[in-house]
Amino acid sequence: MTESSEGGPEIHFYNTLGRRRERLRPRVPGRVGVYTCGPTVYAASHIGNLRTFVFEDLLRRALELRGLEVTQVMNLTDVDDKTIRDAKETGKSLAEVTDPWVDAFFRDLDRLHVQRAHEYPRATDHVPEMIALVERLIERGHAYEREGSVFFRIASDEDYGKLSGIDLEGVQQGERVASDEYGKDDARDFVLWKAAKEGEPSWESPWGEGRPGWHIECSAMSMRYLGESFDIHCGGVDNIFPHHDNEIAQSESATGETFVATWLHAEHLIVDGQKMSKSLGNLYTLDDLLERGVDLRAVRYLFLSVHYRQKLNFTFEALDGAVAALRRLDEMRFRLDHAREGEGGPRLAKAAAVLRRDFRAALADDLNTSAALAAVHGFVRKVNVAIEKVELGRGDKEAVTSALADADSVLGVLDPAAWDAGGDTAGDGLDDDAVEELVRQRQAARESREFAEADRLRDELVEAGIVLEDTPQGPRWKRR
Ligand code: AMP
Ligand code: ZN
Repeated sequence: MTESSEGGPEIHFYNTLGRRRERLRPRVPGRVGVYTCGPTVYAASHIGNLRTFVFEDLLRRALELRGLEVTQVMNLTDVDDKTIRDAKETGKSLAEVTDPWVDAFFRDLDRLHVQRAHEYPRATDHVPEMIALVERLIERGHAYEREGSVFFRIASDEDYGKLSGIDLEGVQQGERVASDEYGKDDARDFVLWKAAKEGEPSWESPWGEGRPGWHIECSAMSMRYLGESFDIHCGGVDNIFPHHDNEIAQSESATGETFVATWLHAEHLIVDGQKMSKSLGNLYTLDDLLERGVDLRAVRYLFLSVHYRQKLNFTFEALDGAVAALRRLDEMRFRLDHAREGEGGPRLAKAAAVLRRDFRAALADDLNTSAALAAVHGFVRKVNVAIEKVELGRGDKEAVTSALADADSVLGVLDPAAWDAGGDTAGDGLDDDAVEELVRQRQAARESREFAEADRLRDELVEAGIVLEDTPQGPRWKRR
C-alpha cells in the first residue's frame, strides 16, 4: 500500500526526530496535517526566513502532487518582546504595530509565488487556548506558578530534549537567564506564561494579568487546528532547540500522546559564505533585492535548486546561474511555440512519461529538488533535439506543455507568463473604479479587524494583477 491515493514511489523524509530517513505514513490515509512556524511580525522577512517558507511551500505542493490532501497551518507571532518593545516605543497598540508587517509578509509570499497556507492563526487571537493548555500542564504536575508567571518543569518530562538530543547536564542549576524568569525552581525550566509588566499588553489569566510565552503559542495553535497528534511540523534548524523541544515537552506532557510524527528542518541561508547580519551589511529583504534589479523568479529557482537540508549560499553569481537556467527553459518554450508538428503520432510521449516518473521519484526521496530539476533539464534537452531535427509529431506540443505544467505545479517557477510583469492576468477585467472599490472594502475590513475578509479581498486584487502597497498615508495600488 502506498501513502498517496495516486500510487507512485513511496514518500520518504529525513525525520529530525530520530535522525533517520523514514517512510511517510499519514495518520489518516490520503490526508496530511502540516504545521510550519511562521514569522514574528515586527520587521520585514529576510531572505533566510523566505528560504524556509519556500521550502515549506515546496513540501506542501509535493504532497499535493501525489494526491494527498494537505492542511497547512502557519502561525503569526504577534506578541513577543520585540513587538511589545515597538508598541511601547511608538505608543501604538500591538495590532497597529504588527498589521503592516503581516501585510508585508503576505506580499513577500506573493512575490515568491508561495501558495497561501489554509490558516494563519495569530497568537493574540488564541490566548484562551494557551491558558487552557497551561492549566492542563499544572494539573498534571508539569508546570508551576511563581509570582504570576508559570514555568514548565523540565525534570517532570523524562523525554525532554529528544528532538535535539541536547545534554542538559551542562546547564547550571541556579543560573538565572532573564530577570522576568526569576523565581524558577530550576534554571532549565522555561516560561509558559509571563506575569505582566507595567505598561505592557496583557491578558487576564488564573495567575493574574500576563501574556503567553513563545513556545506555548505554537503548541496551542497547532493542536487547535490540526489535532493533538498530527503528521508534519517544520521550521528552520534554529527552531530545533529550544523551540521545538519545548513544543514537544508541552504538548506530550499535556496530552500523553505523540505530538508530531515527522519533524523537518531547513538549513540556513547564508550570504557570500557568511551568516547574514545587519552589521555585515549582507542581510537582504526582497525589497533590497528588487532595488538591485534582481528577478525574484530567479530567487525562487535558486532556493529550489539547493536541497533543503544543505546550507544555501546566496551570492549574486549563483543568482546569475539561476537566471541562465531559466533562460534555457524559456527559450525552449519559445522554440516550441514556433515549431510545427509533423505527420505521425507523438514522438515525445515517452520522454514526457520519463519526466513525470523521475520528477516524482526525486521528490519522494526527501524532496530532492536538484534531481527533480535535473529531470526537467534532461527533458528540455530532448525536446530541443526533437525541435532541431524537425521531429515533432502530432500531439507533441501538448505533451511537452502538460508535462512541464505537471512539474511546475510543484516548482512554481517554470512558466514565464505567470511571472511576467505584464502577465496574462494583469488587470483582468477590473477597471479603476472597481479596483478602488475593492481597495476601500479591504481597508474597511482591516479597520474592523476582519482579517480573513481583508486577505480574501487582497487575493482578489492580486489575482487581477493589482499590486497593493500599504503606506503610512493609506493603501496605494498600481497595475502589475
Ligand atoms: P523568525 O521570524 O525569526 O521566527 O523566523 C521565521 C522562520 O525563518 C523560522 O522558521 C526560522 O527557523 C527561519 N530562519 C531564520 N533565519 C534563517 C536563515 N538564515 N535561513 C533560513 N531560515 C531561517
Ligand atoms: Zn513555532
